[in-house]
Amino acid sequence: MKSNCTISFSRNDLQRTRLWQGKCPVKNCTVDIKQHKVSFQKYKGKMRYLAFCPEHGIRIHKNGFVYYNGSSPADLITATKRNLMFHSDYYVTNFLKKKNKMESGRLCYESSEDAVSYNVFTELLSNGAALKRLVGNILKRHIKDEVELYLWGGKIDLRNNSFVQYKPLIKVRNHLERDIKRFATEPDIMLVIPKKVVICIEAKFGSKNPIAKEQKEKQEEKPKSKIKLIERYCVKNRIIDTKELFDFSNTPKLFYEQLFRNIVFAASMAKLEGNVNWYVVNLRNQHVMNLKRGKPESMPIMRNIRSILKPRYKKRFTHLTWEDIYNKAVKGNEELVNLAWYLKNKSLNCGRAFNIL
Ligand SMILES: [Zn+2]
Repeated sequence: MKSNCTISFSRNDLQRTRLWQGKCPVKNCTVDIKQHKVSFQKYKGKMRYLAFCPEHGIRIHKNGFVYYNGSSPADLITATKRNLMFHSDYYVTNFLKKKNKMESGRLCYESSEDAVSYNVFTELLSNGAALKRLVGNILKRHIKDEVELYLWGGKIDLRNNSFVQYKPLIKVRNHLERDIKRFATEPDIMLVIPKKVVICIEAKFGSKNPIAKEQKEKQEEKPKSKIKLIERYCVKNRIIDTKELFDFSNTPKLFYEQLFRNIVFAASMAKLEGNVNWYVVNLRNQHVMNLKRGKPESMPIMRNIRSILKPRYKKRFTHLTWEDIYNKAVKGNEELVNLAWYLKNKSLNCGRAFNIL
C-alpha cells in the first residue's frame, strides 16, 4: 500500500477517528478505510494490520494517526517530513539517515513528542532572541550569551547542516550506562550556555512521566526499581557526589525514574562542562493536564521531585508547559508567526493539542 499524499493535517482538517464506522479522520473523506490495511508491527509473533487511507496517506490508530506513504525508506522520509513543519531537511539528513537518534523513524506519528520538540525548538533556535528569552525565563535572569540547542544529545547547527554529539553526555553514559543497550539515557532537549549552564528538558506531549516499578529488568536494560536506580546512578556515580544533591530519607511513593535520571545526568554533565550550574525542566501539555485531571498525566510533579532534592538544589527542578513557551517566547513575535500558527493548530488524537487560542 502506498500513497502520494504529501499534505500535513492540522486540527481543523480532522475529526475524532471513528474506526468502527470505517471512517478516515480527515473531514469529508469518503474512503472506506476497512478496505485498506497496512502491516503495523508484530505482536506476540503475529503481524498486526491497521486501517489505512490511501487518499490521505495516513495509518489510523485507536486515537490518532500516523503519516504513512509506504514501507520503503524513501516513503518514511516523505511521511516524516509531513509532520515536521520546520527544518525538516536537517532532520532527515542528520537524524533519520544517520540513525543518530533512537527510534528516529517515529517522528511521523501525530502524537510524537519528539516531532513537537523538534518543530518548536529548532524554530526557536533560528530566532536566537526567542530562545534566549525562554532560557531567561527558566533561569529568572537576563541572558546575554548565545544559547546552544541539543536534541537527543546532539548539537543542532542549522547553518552548517551539522550535528555533533555532546561530549559530556557521552562521558556520563560511558560511566553510568556502559552495559545498557536498550536504551541509554537520552535527554530530549538540552540548552547549554558553554562553560556557564546546562539545562535538561524532559518533554511530554500526550504521555505521562514514567515511574519506577518493582520489576526485574531484562539484560542490557536500565534498572526499573527505585533501589536499583539509586544504586546505579547515585551510589556508583564517581563524577559527582550525589549525597550532596539528594535526600532519599523520605522518598515519595511515586518515584519518577526518568526525571530522576535527568537530574543525575544534568548534574554530572554540568560538572564535566566546568562545574557549572544545572537545571532540569519537565515540559508538559497544559491542555492534556486539564483534560486528564486526577489521572497520571496531570499529577503535580514539583513537590514530588523537590522532596528528593536537598534544600539548596530544590529550585534546580522546574515545571513548564508548551503553553508557557508560546506565551513567553512566541506570542507577538513577527518572525515566529509560523510557529505560533503551528502551536495553535497542532492536533493530538485528532483534536486540539494545546490550550492556545
Ligand atoms: Zn482519508
